[in-house]
Amino acid sequence: MSNLSPGFSPVSRRNYRGRLAPSPTGLLHVGHARTFWIAAQRAIENQGTLILRNEDLDPQRSRSEFARAMIEDLRWLGIRWSEGPDCGGAYGPYSQRERRAHYLEAWRRLRDGGFLYPCACSRKDLAQAASAPNDADADDEPVYPGTCRDRKDAVEFVKPAGVNWRFRVPDGEAVKFADLNLGQQRFVASSDFGDFLVWRRDDVPAYQLAVVVDDAAMRISEVVRGADLLKSTARQLLLMRALGHAAPDYFHCELVRDSAGVRLAKRHDALSIRHLRESGMTPEKVLEMAG
Ligand SMILES: [Zn+2]
Repeated sequence: MSNLSPGFSPVSRRNYRGRLAPSPTGLLHVGHARTFWIAAQRAIENQGTLILRNEDLDPQRSRSEFARAMIEDLRWLGIRWSEGPDCGGAYGPYSQRERRAHYLEAWRRLRDGGFLYPCACSRKDLAQAASAPNDADADDEPVYPGTCRDRKDAVEFVKPAGVNWRFRVPDGEAVKFADLNLGQQRFVASSDFGDFLVWRRDDVPAYQLAVVVDDAAMRISEVVRGADLLKSTARQLLLMRALGHAAPDYFHCELVRDSAGVRLAKRHDALSIRHLRESGMTPEKVLEMAG
């Protein structure tokens, strides 16, 4: 396949495996419905397997009642999967909180490979160093100023807990990929994004690491998700290369906005799938509303 930069090897196309990866930090939103629906349709069109992965790593924000609700709401929308926390499968467990050993192994490999450094900057240090947000990408982490990047003591840590761990990005490298929906993408390491978190001080693996480890372990061949994660894909491609994993294909969906231009996923709870369903709306109507 020629759609990836040299060094990013695609996985085999013979066996389509897609995933839904919601976080149980609230009720699923109409803004998410369209992305999940597209992910499900692509798995069907490719006669593939769809996996549900419960991204419940954040101990403060994840709740089991939201995990139950997201399964019910996805089913109600008519989405079906054949591997997941509710039905098991060959690549489980399918809840991230039960997969810590996998993330720790990846952390060790990255540490030993010289890809990581411990970062002792406080939130306050980072807030002072960060310039004002310069684009609309308010969800994104600010470019790390590099205060701790020359630390060489990573191998002295036997466990990640206690400091933040960052991935040292290759300065100036353009990470390119051909998105199956949005076309050619290009992000430059250390200007579009900086040294990003892979493990948090409070001993929680960061999103980027967990996703890369799980997509590889679950043999995901295509990632369908919102366009707010395009830049994260660049970070994840670097992590995959460092870990020696093949890269999946990517299909990023445009974000749905309301008539005032506000992203639906940013709007309040009245647009949860749950509330629309309880107000008598049909799944078809919800999906129509989701664009
Ligand atoms: Zn630091």
